[in-house]
Amino acid sequence: MGDTNTGEGSGYDADVAVIGLGAIGSSAAWRLAARGLDVLGFEQFEPGHAWGGSTGRTRLFRVACLEHPGLTPIARRARDLWRELEASSGRRLFLETGGLMIGPPDSHIIKGTLSAATAHDLPVERLDADEIARRFPAHARVDPGDVGVWDPEAGVVRPEAAIVAAVDAARAAGAQVRTNTRVIAVEPDADGVTIRTDDAEYRVRHVAVTSGPWITRFVPDLPLTPHRVVMTWFRAREGRSANLDVLPVFIRSVPGRDTWIWGHGAMPGSRSGPPGDDDGDGFEGFDVKVGPEFDGPFIADDPDAIDRDIHPGETDEISELVAATFPDVEPEPSGVTTCIMTHTPDGQFVVGPTAQPRVVVGGGCSGHSFKHAAALGELVAQSVTGEQPFTDASFLDPRRFD
Ligand SMILES: Cc1cc2nc3c(=O)[nH]c(=O)nc-3n(C[C@H](O)[C@H](O)[C@H](O)COP(=O)(O)OP(=O)(O)OC[C@H]3O[C@@H](n4cnc5c(N)ncnc54)[C@H](O)[C@@H]3O)c2cc1C
Repeated sequence: MGDTNTGEGSGYDADVAVIGLGAIGSSAAWRLAARGLDVLGFEQFEPGHAWGGSTGRTRLFRVACLEHPGLTPIARRARDLWRELEASSGRRLFLETGGLMIGPPDSHIIKGTLSAATAHDLPVERLDADEIARRFPAHARVDPGDVGVWDPEAGVVRPEAAIVAAVDAARAAGAQVRTNTRVIAVEPDADGVTIRTDDAEYRVRHVAVTSGPWITRFVPDLPLTPHRVVMTWFRAREGRSANLDVLPVFIRSVPGRDTWIWGHGAMPGSRSGPPGDDDGDGFEGFDVKVGPEFDGPFIADDPDAIDRDIHPGETDEISELVAATFPDVEPEPSGVTTCIMTHTPDGQFVVGPTAQPRVVVGGGCSGHSFKHAAALGELVAQSVTGEQPFTDASFLDPRRFD
């Protein structure tokens, strides 16, 4: 990026506009402002809202990333940035629990996890079915041939609190943030980009489009499909425990079924959380969370039109999977909500320059981007400024679909 003067007479209102301050955009705004750029961030709702891809109180964090070995350095960089945001916000955003992956030895869960572990010499442990049952009784129902991989660096991240902390950090670094402001047009040309809202127009040098499920409104050529996903929580059966200490982060096959589930145990309340936790610090407690491999058949072309109602029978299948897997967990959900997951054809994110001049994008969550979001924001910032990325992110290049 060349001249960054946006003072009076320059013709620019900011160096960079960031469209959408969700998981990736909030961090992109922070990382750009931290570099001394003039940043103008737009969010159509309040930061940390429930209407995009980042609602639901927790997200799984893993460093032995079964989706691609190239994601491990991104997860670790994100963890460093979550820690910085914890320091600046005074809120606990990341909790390391360790994580257990279970499946047949030749399954994507096991092979992908081991592939990342081998590529980065991660201190994972391999377990057979007997060891899984002995060390993790909550996971005792395992098909005999299944194996486990323990990732000691796995944990949970708090999405809403992390987004609010990143927006606050962006503001503290000098970013101008317009909340409850919907961008209606992004018009790039050779000299800059015009950004339109309902009642204003801005001229910026570059734009980072980080609008999650709504990205294709501004970058229509990207092959992104938003899916409606139902998120479910559960409680331990009477007299049993399914807290994080016995049920840390997991991705696992379901006994006797050709499918898998993901999730984590409960944190009963802030006072029973880790030392140092307190009311309002971001870790105020949650139930067991379990989600399915499948997304459900609902694809929303228009994320605004997504059906937010929960219909009779919609949670039956996940309840059956919970009943088949966890004897100590009550299979009737204690909580249900909807969320939007945005898929790419190859299951990897889109982060970097686009075919449009001056337009960088960060999104395409594919159901696994929150753990990386702080670092994906950093990659967006590096793409805008033309810096060398902190790791090889060429497998996330949005132009791979051209
Ligand atoms: C059910 C479910 C479970 C998941 N589990 C995990 C997990 O365990 N681990 C993990 O790492 N990831 C997980 N993910 C993925 C992760 O939560 C999401 O990928 C990620 O949060 C999406 O981030 P984003 O920044 O792309 O989008 P968002 O966080 O949705 O941000 C986009 C923002 O842009 C704003 N916006 C849109 N249009 C405009 C506009 N015109 N003007 C202004 N603002 C606009 C939106 O309001 C929103 O705030 C899961 C996703 C789902 C749905």
